[in-house]
Amino acid sequence: MNRIYRKNDLTTVTVEDMGADGEGIGKADGFTLFVKDAVVGDVAQVRITKVKKQYAYARLEKLLTVSPFRTEPKCPWHRQCGGCQIQALEYTKQLEYKQNKVRNHLIRLGGFAPELVDRVMESIVGMEDPYRYRNKAQYPVGTDRDGRIVTGFYAGRTHTVIPSTECCLGAAENKEILETVTAHMERYRIPAYDEETGRGQVRHILIRKGFYTGEIMVCLVINGKYGEREYICHQAQLLEKLALIKGMTSVSVSINTEKTNVIMGKEIHTLWGSPVISDVIHVRDMRQTGYPCTGQQLTFAISPLSFYQVNPVQTEKLYSLALEYAGLTGRETVWDLYCGIGTISLFLASGAGQVCGVEVIPQAIEDAIENARRNGIQNARFYVGKAEEVLPAFYERGKDGMAAPGENGSEDLRHPDVIVVDPPRKGCDGVCLDTMLRMRPERIVYVSCDSATLARDLRILCDGGYEIKRVRAVDQFAHTVHVETVCLLARKAQ
Ligand code: SAH
Repeated sequence: MNRIYRKNDLTTVTVEDMGADGEGIGKADGFTLFVKDAVVGDVAQVRITKVKKQYAYARLEKLLTVSPFRTEPKCPWHRQCGGCQIQALEYTKQLEYKQNKVRNHLIRLGGFAPELVDRVMESIVGMEDPYRYRNKAQYPVGTDRDGRIVTGFYAGRTHTVIPSTECCLGAAENKEILETVTAHMERYRIPAYDEETGRGQVRHILIRKGFYTGEIMVCLVINGKYGEREYICHQAQLLEKLALIKGMTSVSVSINTEKTNVIMGKEIHTLWGSPVISDVIHVRDMRQTGYPCTGQQLTFAISPLSFYQVNPVQTEKLYSLALEYAGLTGRETVWDLYCGIGTISLFLASGAGQVCGVEVIPQAIEDAIENARRNGIQNARFYVGKAEEVLPAFYERGKDGMAAPGENGSEDLRHPDVIVVDPPRKGCDGVCLDTMLRMRPERIVYVSCDSATLARDLRILCDGGYEIKRVRAVDQFAHTVHVETVCLLARKAQ
């Protein structure tokens, strides 16, 4: 019989493993404990916070033996912020943790045999310098107890903004931009948005930087319109200051008057400069297939609402792998589902016969079309819509429906050679997967930012006639528990 713990009890535990959310896992008297902020190798005194039948949650009280895998976190806020769940874990150990996370998901959630998983999994691609890698930041704006405007992060599961402008994952310029905006708000008494009352004006500050070009975008998320032309009080004064910051290319507002925790509103107005920033992605050592296309660079326009990979250094490695897995020879017909601004699509297009991208955000598709034009790519086209709607519509009515009758390649698109998917965390919709199976491509390349839904979807694709050939994780989000994975599936010979 397990000893039953009660809330607030103290106990000692040796942390032997780490869970999917970065919590330490250990046993005390045979009873499993999930310990927040503990890392593998710690022996710790912990306080029970919640008791369940088979296990309990606990909080770290005191380290009795410090794990050899512990490291001093760079960020003083890392425990409160919750953005970096595993910053206290040595980086090489973080990589091992993520490799295991993907492996475990494939085995436990995907039902794949450990031998198979170990055969197809290559080792995770890590970062050389795992700091200051993020090209995008979204800071909430709030008011502190003394009525001062603050920006930083929400303290774990609350709406209280803890002031902090120096996230060590973000661009160094963020601090100056944030201080410029908050100083302007103080000076002209512009109130921060209050989530409780739905009043106040400035909700969030979105900052994006093209790491290659140095171009910076600032987008202020505003609750309501202030006047005919001024979206924020004394707009001209603010723009004048922001324009002085090196690299500033685009300043806009996003109107969000909803009582929601969705950050961005759909309506965007450019206040200064360009509506987009541009960035460059290089893809190196792409393929060993002999197609003369190794090493390539493309330029991309990015608007405030469009998705763009947040870690440029690792994105190049991720895309290189995805392209290598796609194994193009110059003739293939390829679908790129969940294509965003067409990044993967356009790299694919350079090595394929034709590429068709699908994406649900209209602005991202506008960017994708512009990106094809900028890069002189003519064999890529893009559709706005949900993958699970566009793909079946195309498959059912391909000949006379979405593509013009006899339009070049429309029949090939019903039976493409390769399908690439890169869905959000919730993975692919069942209808999308089902249509992919009916289209019977030779290869499917699955790029995933959540290995649990990846495992679930791979099971469906494998039950539908595919087999996993290669899997490789890429560390796109150092210090967090998130992991990106690329997987190559091939259609089994009948
Ligand atoms: N491949 C792109 C984008 C990947 S992120 C890149 O590497 O940059 C996932 C994208 O899927 C986002 O742009 C999101 O807007 C889009 N999306 C989300 N749900 C979708 C759906 N049901 N159908 C099509 N696109 C969707």
